[in-house]
Amino acid sequence: MSTPKLTIDLAALAANWTALDAMTHCETAAVVKANGYGLGVGRVGRALAQAGARRFFVALAEEGADLRQALGPGPEICVFAGHMPGDTDMISDLSLVPMINTVDQMLRHVEALPGHPFGIQLDSGMNRLGMEPAEWAALRDIALEQNPVLIMSHLACADEPDHPMNAQQLQAFRDMTEGCDVPRSLAATGGILLGPEYHFDITRPGVGLYGGHPFADADPVAHVTIPVIQIRDVQPGETVGYGNTWTASAPTRVATVAGGYGDGIPRIMAPHAQVHVGDTPCPVLGRISMDLIAVDVTHLDADPAEVELLGTHQGVDDLAGWAGTIGYEILTSLGGRYTRRYRP
Ligand SMILES: *Cc1c(COP(=O)(O)O)cnc(C)c1O
Repeated sequence: MSTPKLTIDLAALAANWTALDAMTHCETAAVVKANGYGLGVGRVGRALAQAGARRFFVALAEEGADLRQALGPGPEICVFAGHMPGDTDMISDLSLVPMINTVDQMLRHVEALPGHPFGIQLDSGMNRLGMEPAEWAALRDIALEQNPVLIMSHLACADEPDHPMNAQQLQAFRDMTEGCDVPRSLAATGGILLGPEYHFDITRPGVGLYGGHPFADADPVAHVTIPVIQIRDVQPGETVGYGNTWTASAPTRVATVAGGYGDGIPRIMAPHAQVHVGDTPCPVLGRISMDLIAVDVTHLDADPAEVELLGTHQGVDDLAGWAGTIGYEILTSLGGRYTRRYRP
């Protein structure tokens, strides 16, 4: 087998959910948008339900349909995009709960599906999704009469605990929801770590479940190993890879491994990147190709059969750092070519 292997540690996923749940006194939901942050919404959703999650969030109704298929009836599935044109049948047939973002969505929902559960998304300053304070003030009494199951908002800077935006959004959310007798939710992973005043009734962790920053104590969930295809010796003055960007200054043993940017391994990270063989780091040499990466294995005692790209020695945030991006993007970029295994 020559495909890279992506092993998803479902026990670590469940442990991360349990650890985040233990940090609050309220309900902990689970965010599984974008196919469970790239790791497979069905398996991820079922493992989280087994760990105790009773409420899930997805970005789009279509994602909610996939999740419902995996979970069966029972768990609540909330949709951040709200009630979009064309979503009515899916919302109704699969018992999805749209987070209503606008007056138009509110009208669409109560006209098409009177009595069907919904939540409200408020904009507390991020200016992305949700009703603005003035819009909400006008709609609030009518909306509350329809018994929303949840009122939520989202923090823009929760991964920066000292950012003044956090307290500002907290105050805005409090002002907008004061006197509403409806469960409230403000915190994603970062918000959970900001402390109890951000927790309200329901938290919505995503990235922390999958082992990503800012949940520093997370167990790694995604493990990637890549098989070695060929090993050669390169003499001083010889180059490796496209563009001749790396030149040997000493005799070097080079392993060519079967992964590349076609697998979502960012090409841009090459100058900073390494892999591991056992506990030993091995630098990436030259450019990352679509299907191949060259690795320096000169210093190893034996030629390796495979290398570790993601795991216990280096995680999604290490790769993100080398690539100038965030762990979320590393996870959701992992492509379709992996042999995926789920470790129970
Ligand atoms: C993605 C998302 C979350 C989860 O955020 P993490 O930072 O991954 O924990 C929660 N709420 C909303 C509205 C989101 O878009």
